[in-house]
Amino acid sequence: MVVIMKPQASEGQLREAIREMEAAGVKVMVSRGSETTILGAEGNANLIDQEKMEQLPGVDRVMRVTEPYKKANRKYHPDDTVIPLPNGRTVGGTRLAILAGPCSVETEEQICGVARRVKAAGAAALRGGAFKPRTSPYSFQGLESEGLKLLQEAREETGLPIVTEIMGTEYIDLFEETVDVIQVGARNMQNFDLLKQLGRRTTKPILLKRGLSATVEEWLMSAEYIMSSGNDKVILCERGIRTFETFTRNTLDLSAVLAVKQQSHLPVVVDPSHACGKAWMVERMSLAAVAAGADGLLIEVHNDPEHAWCDGAQSITPEQFDALMPKLAALAACVGRTV
Ligand code: PEP
Ligand code: MN
Repeated sequence: MVVIMKPQASEGQLREAIREMEAAGVKVMVSRGSETTILGAEGNANLIDQEKMEQLPGVDRVMRVTEPYKKANRKYHPDDTVIPLPNGRTVGGTRLAILAGPCSVETEEQICGVARRVKAAGAAALRGGAFKPRTSPYSFQGLESEGLKLLQEAREETGLPIVTEIMGTEYIDLFEETVDVIQVGARNMQNFDLLKQLGRRTTKPILLKRGLSATVEEWLMSAEYIMSSGNDKVILCERGIRTFETFTRNTLDLSAVLAVKQQSHLPVVVDPSHACGKAWMVERMSLAAVAAGADGLLIEVHNDPEHAWCDGAQSITPEQFDALMPKLAALAACVGRTV
C-alpha cells in the first residue's frame, strides 16, 4: 500500500499518517518527491484500515500496490532515480550516460588506450571485465585482480569511473575498495545471495543486467533484493534476452526499457553489444535505445576487435565510437536529452 500525501500536508499530518500505519504493524518508507511525499508500507499492509487512512487530514489518496517489488516500484517513488558517479556525471537524469570500453581488460596499453579514446569522445565511465563469466572453462577467464589494477590505472589517467563485473560474494570487499560501479552479469541476475550481500556490504552503484531469460518482473525483483538489503543505487541494464532467433546473439528487448521505466524509478541503460553480438548493428541499436527512452548505453569498444581476447565480433572501434557520439547527440535532442 502507498499513501500519497497532499502537497500542502504539514509535518504533523505526515507524522500522524506514519503513526497510523505503524500501529498496524508495518514499516513505513518515506519518499519525499518533487510534488508530494509518499508513504510506502513494508510488510503486511492488509492490516491497515484503508478507509481510515483516507480520512486523515493531509492524506490525498491511498493505493493498493499489487506488484511484489516495493522499493523498486515507481508507485513508492514517483521521481526518477539519478545515480551520481564520482566524476560528477550521473546515470539517470537528462544527460545520457555512455559507459564504454572493452569486454575484458587485456593489457595496460589496451585499457588505457581505449579509456583515453572513449573519454575524449564523451563517455561517462569506462567498462572492462577483469573477472569474466565464460561459457567454456577453457576460454580466457579474465586477468582477475591484475585486471582491476589496470582498470585503476586507466581511471587514474583519465578520471573515468570504472565499471566491472563481480562474480561472487568473496570479491565484495575488494570491489568496494577498487571499483566505482559494480556490474552483476546476466548469469548472476538471480544469484540471490550475491544480490543480498551487495545490498548489505557496499554502497557502490550496482549495474544489474537482465538475465538471459528473465521476465521484467523477475529482473525488478532482483533489483528489489539489492535495495531491500540496503543499497538503493541500482542501474538496470537490458542486454538482450534469449529467443528462438539465432541471427543475433540475443534479441534486444527495447519494449522492456519502456516497461521498466513505467514500473520503476530506476535508471535503465541498454547494452547493444551483447544484445546483437554484431559490431555493425551497435550504432543503429544504440540510437533506437535512446529513442526508446534509455538513460544510457553500455557499449563494447576495442582498439583491435579482430584480436580481442573476448567478444571481438561485437566490439566497435574507437573510430566507430567517435562517429556514434554526435549521432547520439542529435537523436538525444529529439527526446529531450543530451549526451
Ligand atoms: C559483459 O558485459 O561483458 C557480459 C559478460 O555481459 P552479460 O552478463 O550481459 O552477458
Ligand atoms: Mn562482453
